[in-house]
Amino acid sequence: MSDRTILVWFRNDLRIHDNEILLEAVRKADKVLPVYCFDPYYFQQTTTGTSKTGSFRARFLLEAVADLRKNLQTYGAELIIRTGSPAEIIPQLAEQYQVNEVYHHREVAYEETEISEQVEAALWKMRLNLKHFIGHTLYHKEDLPFPIKDIPDSFAVFKKKVERDSNVRPCVPTPGQIITPTITDAGELPTLEQLGLTNPIDDARATNYFQGGETAALVQLHNFFSKGDLAVKGKGRNGVINNNTSKLSPWLAVGCISPRQVYWEIFKHQNGNAQSGMLKLELLWRDYFRFMFKKHGQKFIKAKNELEELPADNSEAFETWAAAKTGVAFVDACMHELNATGYICNQCRQIVATYLVHELKADWTKGAAYFEEKLIDYSPASNWGNWAFIAGVNDAKESKYTIAAIPTKEQEAKSDFVATWQASKDAAGDLVGV
Ligand code: FAD
Repeated sequence: MSDRTILVWFRNDLRIHDNEILLEAVRKADKVLPVYCFDPYYFQQTTTGTSKTGSFRARFLLEAVADLRKNLQTYGAELIIRTGSPAEIIPQLAEQYQVNEVYHHREVAYEETEISEQVEAALWKMRLNLKHFIGHTLYHKEDLPFPIKDIPDSFAVFKKKVERDSNVRPCVPTPGQIITPTITDAGELPTLEQLGLTNPIDDARATNYFQGGETAALVQLHNFFSKGDLAVKGKGRNGVINNNTSKLSPWLAVGCISPRQVYWEIFKHQNGNAQSGMLKLELLWRDYFRFMFKKHGQKFIKAKNELEELPADNSEAFETWAAAKTGVAFVDACMHELNATGYICNQCRQIVATYLVHELKADWTKGAAYFEEKLIDYSPASNWGNWAFIAGVNDAKESKYTIAAIPTKEQEAKSDFVATWQASKDAAGDLVGV
């Protein structure tokens, strides 16, 4: 009988550790065929004029895939890299290598699930199964104390019930050895130019540098816990923010590290520290947005009332905001930092998003699309979910947990709201004018 081969389709799970699809493929097959596709879909221009992927994230992704290949090689395996539509590439490779089954991690957002449906349909024609695994969240979907359709829309209720009635699974073991079939054309990593992008220019003033890949993710995890970051208090680069968060989001977004790995690391270092509690809370927010997408689909980011007035186009205000020229020092500093580095902290995101939506009254979806291009840690559910939350278009706004940056009733009066930011003008100064 011929060898059984399983194709492992890597997407946003670019790691060897705690990767169930890789482990299961090693256990169930004689040979494993690891594949990554650079899908041109993600490198095109959108209808709003932004790119789906900006150059900081694209560079990070290239580094992450290169690192995955290097790590797989240390296990005796090889990663096939292709540029093209997965719906064409996966079936071609399945045929070429006489694959018996294809494994992947299921996504929740619309575009990602549509791509897997296309792959599934193409494989189905060859009588091949695309097996879906669940592996992007901290809490496994099947361990939730409610079916997906009954997940509470309120984050507060979701958090309370999940923490009380569910547990985080342990990480899965790392395979000892990965045997691939003989691969003659593993393929080269594309260049940024081939993806239609230019090399990003690193700003010397940036406080964070994110190197793509599992190797760098594990270093960041280690540093965060061992170098006393948890204990560091103080102001971030923009002056007003206590910025001692994990900075793991770019790696979590493409799965160079799993939320479970982070959780169990927190558990190891837990000493009642407020920061480790915060980290767990933030991972729960991440889960919440993903589960909301699972429950509501695109409706989660749509107005509940179809007749609700659409936001004004207000393009001019939007352009001013994106170019960091609003004249409000703190907002401009944050937007400069985003444009120059691909990363701003959570509070800065909340503030600039709130300003665009509630102050400039511009179309929030344009802001979300702009973040989609610029953010190095862009993740569909987290980005669009947070934006919709701030725009108040869905059930999430009814959560008892309010976002710190949303102005109170008093702040909503323009003068007070702006005054709050003006107060931080001096501290923000050094990034204005990037
Ligand atoms: P930590 O505070 O250390 O949190 C640990 C992890 O929890 C993060 O790495 C992230 O994966 C997750 N997390 C933290 N806060 C949130 C949150 N509010 N919602 C969902 N997940 C969270 N995060 C993304 O990963 N990708 C995005 O595209 C994204 N877009 C956002 C857009 C807006 C308008 C806002 C307000 C927030 C967005 N966030 C997004 C959430 C948050 O800003 C970042 O996750 C956080 O700043 C990353 O820094 P950190 O890794 O130090 O976070």
